[in-house]
Amino acid sequence: LVTIRNVRKDYRRGSEVVEVLHSIQLDIRQGEFVALMGPSGSGKSTLLNLIGGLDNPTDGEIRIDGERIDELSSNQLAHWRSENVGFVFQFYNLMPTLTAQRNVELPLLLTNLSAAERRQRAAVALQLVGLADRAKHKPNELSGGQQQRVSIARAIVSDPKLLICDEPTGDLDRQSAEDVLNLLNELNRQHGKTILMVTHDPKAAEHASRVVHLDKGELVDDGQPS
Ligand code: ATP
Ligand code: MG
Repeated sequence: LVTIRNVRKDYRRGSEVVEVLHSIQLDIRQGEFVALMGPSGSGKSTLLNLIGGLDNPTDGEIRIDGERIDELSSNQLAHWRSENVGFVFQFYNLMPTLTAQRNVELPLLLTNLSAAERRQRAAVALQLVGLADRAKHKPNELSGGQQQRVSIARAIVSDPKLLICDEPTGDLDRQSAEDVLNLLNELNRQHGKTILMVTHDPKAAEHASRVVHLDKGELVDDGQPS
């Protein structure tokens, strides 16, 4: 599903150019659950942003389901993202003024679905993450774990090919983290979602089918979880 060849990413810091990713090669097959680990500053979020089409590489090729996304303009990328990837972040990024239901409906505003269909799909997604009974709650009326499950519902409501999670359990207590990981596992095993997850937590990585390590901008290891 994901093919990355010789990907390099430079950032400009003042007059200096810093090479954050050197020459990344990575393949992710349909249906895999990949954990990406590595020290702070090693370029994990940078790599996720490239794969999710939030930014373009300086050099190299990124193919998702056969499509060269590194060659798309920013407008084309925005459109591609809305149909192909779902994002989950450490701090949930929910809209504080909207109910859980409305938050989950947000990505569907870009589609030509009717309001009734949007409501219906968001309700199904909330049901899937076990929060049908919290649909009318606003984010500040939900626990951290519940907010993260709402953000997962929002990420999958458009049925994306790839689910990208950047430290999804980084702000959660152990029990809520386990709930979120079990949910990701269920989405992977029962619903066939391909997942790429950055984590610092070895226990979280154990839920993945494969673990990839990034160190100083290079992929240094690639194997089954211990
Ligand atoms: P963490 O585990 O702390 O989240 P990370 O592995 O996700 O770290 P990145 O966020 O990818 O690391 O950052 C890698 C390097 O690139 C860091 O040195 C960071 O300062 C730098 N960097 C990230 N984004 C930018 C940017 N937009 N402009 C300039 N430098 C950046
Ligand atoms: Mg990061």
